[in-house]
Amino acid sequence: MARVLVVGAGLTGAAGAALLRGAPRGQVAVWDKARGAGGSGGPGGGRETRAWRVSCVVCRVCRGVSRRSVTRCRAGGRMSTTRADRGSADLGAQFVTCEPELAGPRLSFYEELVTHGILKPLTAPVEGLVEREGSRNFVAPQGISSVVKYYLEQSGAEVSYEQQVTHISLRDGRWEVSRKAGPPEQFDVVILTMPVPQILQLQGDIVNIINASQKQQLESVSYSSRYALGLFYEAGTGIAVPWAARYIADNPCVRFISIDNKKRNIESPEIGPSVVVHTTVAFGSEHLDSDPEEVQQIILSHLQRIVPSLPKPSSIKCQRWRYSQVTRAVPNCPGQMILHTQPLLICGGDGFTRSNFDGCIESAMSLAEAVKPHL
Ligand code: FAD
Repeated sequence: MARVLVVGAGLTGAAGAALLRGAPRGQVAVWDKARGAGGSGGPGGGRETRAWRVSCVVCRVCRGVSRRSVTRCRAGGRMSTTRADRGSADLGAQFVTCEPELAGPRLSFYEELVTHGILKPLTAPVEGLVEREGSRNFVAPQGISSVVKYYLEQSGAEVSYEQQVTHISLRDGRWEVSRKAGPPEQFDVVILTMPVPQILQLQGDIVNIINASQKQQLESVSYSSRYALGLFYEAGTGIAVPWAARYIADNPCVRFISIDNKKRNIESPEIGPSVVVHTTVAFGSEHLDSDPEEVQQIILSHLQRIVPSLPKPSSIKCQRWRYSQVTRAVPNCPGQMILHTQPLLICGGDGFTRSNFDGCIESAMSLAEAVKPHL
């Protein structure tokens, strides 16, 4: 039986694994380096200013996988949702935007998520949102990570967290995959879905397997960087602003603010409100290696000036997205790149298309097409 490893439990890896479901003789494992799950910042990328109990009751994926997931679950990679005592917040992706004319064969993916209640139309007011004609915006009421969890569950794959892949080498016609903790394992097919710079950090035979022209293509990929703050409040706290989210055009630090529960249409007396702040790309790049405590204070001071009525939160999380959104993707690419054919080593992700739901699904479809003949 061909053993397949998907590295990365973000949207591309999860949807790719789901597309391999039912493939003959395919046995699929998904490994992600993050604690509990997901997050390109990786462990250490995010920082909590106060330990809080995270309610993982709706998270069927991480439950039982890691003891630590009870206090910190970040399933979904850059589509992650952070859960606090009585609330939650999408610190990465905010909306799923469907442009029916461009979605083509991917339209059914949106429809399926809507049918299953994973996505609901965005109805809350968002100031400054640029909408293209014919496009439809959706939110995930259970948090954006529920989209990724849906695909992981659909895949039936064995999903393991805290599995950071470090080396990929050839051994007797198979791939020997080493991780930071635990013994190496052998696979017949390996699919890499992490951001491109993290693919280029892998050690072992892969370093020489990536040929000069591929290396050049991969090195040409670039990403923006941003910070995200999640502010969590006690249930019953009022946040008196007329919008659910707002794009800020004239601030050097803050680009986007969302009252996350309002954006997701889940206002209720039992749910503690949460606020998400995304910085500008310029601020993210300038402070990429700054002390997170200082960065957090700067963001908070800007936020205070923009929304003076904002109450004091009971806890704050600061997330650095070193690889936030792709600003230059692999040129002329079908959504994936084959690094080695027999055995198959292939990479994909938004770096091979574009940084949104549609781009990840396009890459996942292309990965699955290329992998199926090898199963
Ligand atoms: P990722 O989500 O980065 O998944 C890769 C996974 O690989 C991660 O979970 C990581 O932990 C894991 N990994 C990395 N290295 C290793 C290793 N060595 N071993 C094991 N695992 C590893 N998109 C939208 O559609 N709408 C939006 O509104 C939107 N807003 C965004 C806002 C922000 C702030 C950010 C950061 C992104 C936003 N995006 C948005 C983009 C979207 O989130 C991404 O395009 C998408 O999540 C990328 O998915 P992926 O699976 O390709 O990569």
